[in-house]
Amino acid sequence: MTPLLDAHDLTATFSGPTDGPPVKALRGVSLRVEPGEMVSIVGPSGSGKSTLLYCLSGLHPVTSGTVRLLGRDLSTLRRGQLARLRRGRVGFVFQAYNLIPALTAHENVALPARLARRSLSATDVDRALAQVGLADRGGHRPSALSGGQQQRVAIARVLATGPELVFADEPTGALDTAAGVEVLDLLRETASGARSVVLVTHDVTAAARADRVLVLRDGLVFRELVRPTPDEVFAGITDREKV
Ligand code: ADP
Repeated sequence: MTPLLDAHDLTATFSGPTDGPPVKALRGVSLRVEPGEMVSIVGPSGSGKSTLLYCLSGLHPVTSGTVRLLGRDLSTLRRGQLARLRRGRVGFVFQAYNLIPALTAHENVALPARLARRSLSATDVDRALAQVGLADRGGHRPSALSGGQQQRVAIARVLATGPELVFADEPTGALDTAAGVEVLDLLRETASGARSVVLVTHDVTAAARADRVLVLRDGLVFRELVRPTPDEVFAGITDREKV
């Protein structure tokens, strides 16, 4: 099976503070994501999680190494080609829901297709809202929805485009426990068939919902855990010694 995402030996270096050394955010990370998988990336603050997510999705250039996203080597793509590859085939869910306040939930879900001049019927939008349990909230503006409901609208907006790969960056970071569980249930359901989810989180319970958990430390994969419990994720992050 061709992996949806195949990254090899990624490094990412930022220029440091004036007169300071460069910051090596990633120092040689490799990973593969197969169709249908949910993979979590965890690690302490500053370990390189966000940088890795941005490099994997082509939002940030790597310093060295290769990323194959949906079978394409990102280094060979021009900006427009990369944008076209991402549009429709890759979805993003962020901690901030990034909904347009003046638009209803229905209009927010329809917006990406409208901007891309792609057809998305009202029925498709309704179906996406129903998938996230918000069939009856399409006419509400974000201010009339809870945080959890807003994040579910953001997920419906992604699902409506039918992506093969969904990147989620701390999607439960602003939610209470119950709302967070609902969002994670949705992401878990989303990862099936040909569609995969890559989740960046510092929440061990959230991370443990994945099929595999990569523990980053100092820009390297310190450990890979297969279907771990939350306690095992916690131990993987906090252990000083590699076992
Ligand atoms: P995490 O998401 O795990 O908290 P990050 O990927 O945000 O980690 O950061 C990894 C390292 O790279 C940190 O030392 C951070 O300060 C540094 N870093 C991230 N982005 C930049 C940037 N734009 N410029 C300089 N340093 C950065």
